Amino acid sequence: MLSMGGYEPESRPPPSVAEIAAFSAARERMVRDQIAARGVKNSRVLEAMARVPRHAFVPADQRSQSYEDGPLPIGHGQTISQPYIVAFMTAALDPKPGDRVLEIGTGSGYQAAVLAGLVAEVYSIEIVAPLAQRAEADLQRLGYGNVKVRAGDGYRGWPEAAPFDAIIVTCAPEHVPQALVNQLKAGGRMMVPVGPTDGVQELYLLRKRPGGLETRAVLPVRFVPMVTKGPPG
Ligand code: SAH
Repeated sequence: MLSMGGYEPESRPPPSVAEIAAFSAARERMVRDQIAARGVKNSRVLEAMARVPRHAFVPADQRSQSYEDGPLPIGHGQTISQPYIVAFMTAALDPKPGDRVLEIGTGSGYQAAVLAGLVAEVYSIEIVAPLAQRAEADLQRLGYGNVKVRAGDGYRGWPEAAPFDAIIVTCAPEHVPQALVNQLKAGGRMMVPVGPTDGVQELYLLRKRPGGLETRAVLPVRFVPMVTKGPPG
């Protein structure tokens, strides 16, 4: 079978016209009932969540569940996050139109697509190479030209593209990687779930201040662990 760098277009037949209409109605309900109703108020974020076709980032056999209130498997033992969590983290990051944002844990590419409509540039790192390739192909096909994807260990960040206005980590390290703090601009924001690999983590909103990191725990969450060899050395 023809394979384009690990991305298999035949596994994602395009949805029918009727499906697309049903998806857009389901997406409106998702934003209203799962996200706005739970207190996410940032109107730019709500609009972005209403615009991005989540069904285009899930495997064909999961597509009918694209707008349900939970994570979904995307292969390689990984998941696309629950829509509410994506919206909550995006809003807490306070994205500005001119921002350059780093994401650790590209997964399906959905979170990167949501950010792409809200900021100037998105850099996203995924450690599972076939997932990185598939997300990159999907983002390109869907026209998200301001997202760059790289396969690699996000624990080290993306030093060549630093500093960033904001960093969003969508896998859970046991501690905040120092490289990511270093790659954040003064005043920059970071969303990161921190905690043990086998349990509930705490989602932190960090802000880089002259005197050090301002730290606020905002929500208990459950993300897949960050897989890493740790600092270079
Ligand atoms: N943001 C994704 C969901 C993330 S799931 C989305 O919108 O679909 C978490 C992802 O983090 C998984 O794909 C996992 O492979 C990846 N990951 C785990 N450790 C990583 C690391 N050290 N660097 C980069 N990605 C990592």
